[in-house]
Amino acid sequence: MTAAIDVEENVSLRDCNSFGLPAVARRLVRVRNDGDVRQVLAHPQLGRAPKFVLGGGSNIVLTRDLAAHVVLKVEVRGMRLVDERADAWIVESGAGEGWHDLVRWTLEQGWPGLENLALIPGTVGAAPVQNIGAYGVELKDRFESLDAVDLVTGRSVTLGRDVLRFGYRDSVFKHELAGKSVITRVRLALPRPWYPVLGYLDLERKMAETGIRAPDARQVFDWVCAVRSAKLPDPARIGNVGSFFKNPVVSAEQCRDIIGRDPEVVHYPLPDGSVKLAAGWLIDACGWKGKSIGRAGVYEKHSLVLVNRGGATGAEVVTLARAIQESVYGRFGIRLEPEPVVV
Ligand SMILES: Cc1cc2nc3c(=O)[nH]c(=O)nc-3n(C[C@H](O)[C@H](O)[C@H](O)COP(=O)(O)OP(=O)(O)OC[C@H]3O[C@@H](n4cnc5c(N)ncnc54)[C@H](O)[C@@H]3O)c2cc1C
Repeated sequence: MTAAIDVEENVSLRDCNSFGLPAVARRLVRVRNDGDVRQVLAHPQLGRAPKFVLGGGSNIVLTRDLAAHVVLKVEVRGMRLVDERADAWIVESGAGEGWHDLVRWTLEQGWPGLENLALIPGTVGAAPVQNIGAYGVELKDRFESLDAVDLVTGRSVTLGRDVLRFGYRDSVFKHELAGKSVITRVRLALPRPWYPVLGYLDLERKMAETGIRAPDARQVFDWVCAVRSAKLPDPARIGNVGSFFKNPVVSAEQCRDIIGRDPEVVHYPLPDGSVKLAAGWLIDACGWKGKSIGRAGVYEKHSLVLVNRGGATGAEVVTLARAIQESVYGRFGIRLEPEPVVV
């Protein structure tokens, strides 16, 4: 029998978002299985209210209290091996497990493949939402399928990659399915045989420094953790959501035009002929590194990261982000798109 859901009232979300922004959830329900979602939908007071799905809060900017919404805090647990195919280990995880805990656990079991994605904060359930990626690997490269509960019908569905339309920090959950379902379980295919993914500058540097040409997965994991810890602020000490803007993709012609004016611009040609620009470089070039507006600032070591300098509000973060967008547009004619969800 499923236990009755517990509705918590006036819950502070300050510790539930990695920016440490102040906001209060008028009603919050912890979701531990699909049945809990269905109970919320059938509830006389909660059923018709809008819902906000919360994972670890490491990719959201809270600008206000969630007074009308019911916050569904996803806490579905459990990690297990569900299939052993010739080409892959299939691992299933509850959406409420910590992403980094899953990476570490799979490595400990001898099923490598997630090591490049080590130390990304947040929950497993949110990983497909923006197709998390780092050091040459994206979630989509390891994705098998997921289970979700429809927030209108309460039906549980299993979705494969064909419907999810993964893109660069993008999926169907940022478009047609935004706010429409709760992901409860995710299955990943960890490749057999395993091979390291090393074509990334920071990892190539580590190989050169250590002289290790054929690292095992544990070695790659340690390198990724070391590089990330040196570069990114720890949200436990300095509030942030990682990269605040996506790296913009422009046409080859637009890129040539920018290079004509700024020969130093950091850019990466893509297979389709377009070019990805480093958003951090564009922000740096506009003189934002280390600057602040109110109590929100641009991290000194990495201009792509906006930080809470202590007591910042969501409105201050948004004001800073807009000012950065305007100056990058003014100088380069490029509109930077935020990566986190502004609530
Ligand atoms: C220091 C730092 C470094 C980071 N580095 C990276 C990086 O290298 N690569 C990268 O891709 N990201 C990175 N991020 C961003 C963030 O960690 C990821 O986007 C992560 O997947 C967010 O998980 P979360 O559980 O905190 O999601 P939340 O912030 O809680 O939610 C994010 C969005 O997903 C939705 N959502 C959450 N859970 C579910 C669910 N179960 N079902 C349906 N919708 C859901 C929410 O409604 C919201 O729209 C970084 C963040 C920080 C703070």
